[in-house]
Amino acid sequence: MTIKKTISKLLLVLLMLCSAALYSQEGGQSGNANGQPLQKQKYYCKYCGMEYSTVRDLTANWCRNHPLGKNGYKHELYEGSVKAQYTCKYCGMVYRDLLNLTRNICQRNPAGKGKNHEPAL
Ligand SMILES: [Zn+2]
Ligand SMILES: [Zn+2]
Repeated sequence: MTIKKTISKLLLVLLMLCSAALYSQEGGQSGNANGQPLQKQKYYCKYCGMEYSTVRDLTANWCRNHPLGKNGYKHELYEGSVKAQYTCKYCGMVYRDLLNLTRNICQRNPAGKGKNHEPAL
């Protein structure tokens, strides 16, 4: 009987230790959230929404959605921040990501009819 009691007591202590460890882990995670050293920076083209890991790659590749023409123009860097949703700077339409925003035609683009939305920064 006494052995069973000690075992159940030990189990209780173990449980308490585990939950304490969990709590301390959560605290540590929220403390690290500010730095975010592991998150890689992404760069987007403001005309087509293509995603690159470096500006060099972005500006070295042809943009098929460039307002000046389908050929002969490279991507241009979107200099705004990464957001949960993106707004067109000409008409205010809201999209989930730059790919969707830039592939739809904007009725108010000053460059002319048939041009696409452009993201506000
Ligand atoms: Zn592009
Ligand atoms: Zn628009």
